[in-house]
Amino acid sequence: MKYIESLIRNIPDFPKPGIQFKDITPVLADAEAFKTVIDWYAMSVEAAGGCDVIAGIESRGFIFGSALARKLHKGFIPIRKPGKLPFTTHRETYQLEYGQDAVEIHTDAVKQGERVALIDDLLATGGTANASISLIEKAGGEIVCSAFVIELDFLRGRERLNLHEEKIFSFIHY
Ligand code: AMP
Repeated sequence: MKYIESLIRNIPDFPKPGIQFKDITPVLADAEAFKTVIDWYAMSVEAAGGCDVIAGIESRGFIFGSALARKLHKGFIPIRKPGKLPFTTHRETYQLEYGQDAVEIHTDAVKQGERVALIDDLLATGGTANASISLIEKAGGEIVCSAFVIELDFLRGRERLNLHEEKIFSFIHY
């Protein structure tokens, strides 16, 4: 864990002043670190009782989520920023500090009652992950867990998630 932490690079004031951006690209570039993180996601999903399919949030959730899906021999569902998915979509908007944002999923992405593990790189305010949880439920899925390499505890994102505390997994806390 200390090794993974040492690879996470802090970029001050990116993409906006005041934001401490956690850059995980050095973790991806290191074969052992990448494997360790994917193995940790897999253990988290197992601890939550397993899943039928993995959903990943654009864009770093695609990288971790698809590697995890391959490891667990599951399919992968992309949750994307608005206007990117070509087929009919469900959309969920959420509040940011200033303004709002949205995420989308294909209307046929989840089968009725499917058990979905939701993956992203980082939990900050929880707006993105919570909107993604709503989307998956709207599409007919059940969230078994949500897992993040990094959680920014001081933003209390997990309190915003409509998900039981035991189903939220984070590898490194700041
Ligand atoms: P939030 O909706 O506030 O929980 O933000 C989570 C999403 O924004 C994730 O997809 C993260 O990749 C990204 N994000 C938010 N804050 C940061 C940060 N400090 N460093 C890197 N990514 C971030």
